[in-house]
Amino acid sequence: MTPANLDAQTVLDQLKQGNERYIANLASRQPIKVPPPELVREQSPKAIILGCSDARVPVEMIFDQPLGELFVIRVAGNVVAPSQIGSIEFAAEKFGTRLVVVLGHSNCGAVSACVETLVNPEQYYSPNLQSIVDRIRPSVYNLHEILTANDGDVDMDEFIDRAIRANVRMSVSQLKHGSRILEDLVSDGTLMIVGAEYDVATGKVNFLKS
Ligand SMILES: [Zn+2]
Repeated sequence: MTPANLDAQTVLDQLKQGNERYIANLASRQPIKVPPPELVREQSPKAIILGCSDARVPVEMIFDQPLGELFVIRVAGNVVAPSQIGSIEFAAEKFGTRLVVVLGHSNCGAVSACVETLVNPEQYYSPNLQSIVDRIRPSVYNLHEILTANDGDVDMDEFIDRAIRANVRMSVSQLKHGSRILEDLVSDGTLMIVGAEYDVATGKVNFLKS
């Protein structure tokens, strides 16, 4: 049994336990373990993580996992673009990895940059950065419409917190439905795709209910 053969629920439990170890060891800063000998020749990722590029969210560390067992894609705002989908298809098909985690985090600058365009429509970003902001935009704008329709008064910090989770959920949905390969793997029960949010203040990963 290699890591990539593990079923999704087992891996999900390992990531939760690893995050608990990480929080417990924050003060002592345990080093990342090197890959075991069988993984030196070839990686065997048991989970695929689509996370944000933010320097405070080092994926192997926060889940306390050894090198060679997580297939990590990091992009500002954990957005889903064709290259991210292609990377996930590659890992799911080549290694048979059963679990995908979309990992957002508190205080996300990419989501805040998108919210800024809502507050200040004149805000200019380079076309490349704008392409990331545009992928976050639907969840942020939908959420803003819902909140302003309710009471017209929005607390911006709370709004950004909710936008971060909405953005994670949107990425999960796009992965489930934006690729025929991934959609088939999910529908036959081979692949589980879940969302989570890392709290940069506490180190805790909260898995979102779908
Ligand atoms: Zn971020």
